[in-house]
Amino acid sequence: MDNCIFCKIVDGTIPAKKVYEDEDMIAIEDINPVAPHHLLLIPKKHVVNALDLAPEDDRLVGRVFRVAAEIARQRGVEERGFRIVQNSNADAGQSVFHIHFHLLAGRHLGWPPG
Ligand code: 5GP
Repeated sequence: MDNCIFCKIVDGTIPAKKVYEDEDMIAIEDINPVAPHHLLLIPKKHVVNALDLAPEDDRLVGRVFRVAAEIARQRGVEERGFRIVQNSNADAGQSVFHIHFHLLAGRHLGWPPG
């Protein structure tokens, strides 16, 4: 999709620190980390947010969670814990309108979130 920053990261037009890639998704380091481990898991398909998911995306979302858990294990943060966050629309703080899932770990994560 034109003018979508995450589509450009997916196709390599904009550089990013990629830590994982398969045919359906990538995982990159967030440019402005808010935790010692802050990754973005980004489906390659341009989906706006959770409201835009179709039934055929169910497997993809499941894969995102499985890959996030695998990255947490690789980084040794699984025992202490980690959080997967997806912001949809303004009040949730969505700023990039291509669906992505934050993987946050490496510090105590307060609840409820701000
Ligand atoms: P949102 O607020 O939409 O849930 O999250 C967007 C995230 O994307 C933010 O954490 C922000 O730091 C990150 N981000 C925005 N632009 C870029 C970029 O060009 N590269 C990377 N790696 N992260 C970005």
